[in-house]
Amino acid sequence: MSVKVNGCYYHEGKAAVAVCAQCGVGICRQCAVKDNKGRVICVSCGNKNLKEEHKKYRQMQKQQGARFKDKKEFMKPGIIGLLIVFVTFAYVFYEGVIFQEIGRCRNIIEVFFFIIAMILFAYMLFSIPFAIILMEDIIPPKYATIMDIIGKWLFRVFVSLFLGWIVFTFYWVRYVILNTKKTKE
Ligand SMILES: [Zn+2]
Ligand SMILES: [Zn+2]
Repeated sequence: MSVKVNGCYYHEGKAAVAVCAQCGVGICRQCAVKDNKGRVICVSCGNKNLKEEHKKYRQMQKQQGARFKDKKEFMKPGIIGLLIVFVTFAYVFYEGVIFQEIGRCRNIIEVFFFIIAMILFAYMLFSIPFAIILMEDIIPPKYATIMDIIGKWLFRVFVSLFLGWIVFTFYWVRYVILNTKKTKE
């Protein structure tokens, strides 16, 4: 490995402000991160370390058993889910969209289906935090810029809106099955 301490190893022509405490290459301001021990290292080493830590975390998690096997684990995402539902519906009621749509229904059956659709929508919104927690578990963390973080969260919320309800349904059904088995024994 050629060590160019004068310039950044990753950006040709950029001056190095530090040397990676782990691999020894010169790094510019953009490539330097601080790890949890307070050392200045390069992003590449930083991400490698985060990935390793995440691997250990996943192994520990597997030993402890699956997510959402305990009632307590439903609490935090449940409260956040309720908040999302509350804020969304407060906004929708405030804008009057719901009344407009109900007014557009031609008969009671259409009103009934509209209400069912709203309940399903609320259920989807409620499930978002459960899918986000699961994604946080599965995807290893990375050192990221503010824009990366915003992008990451938009992506997670978007994916969770569509997959969250499946994830949430799976986990609460499993929880119910496991607990009815327990009480029978
Ligand atoms: Zn490095
Ligand atoms: Zn650089």
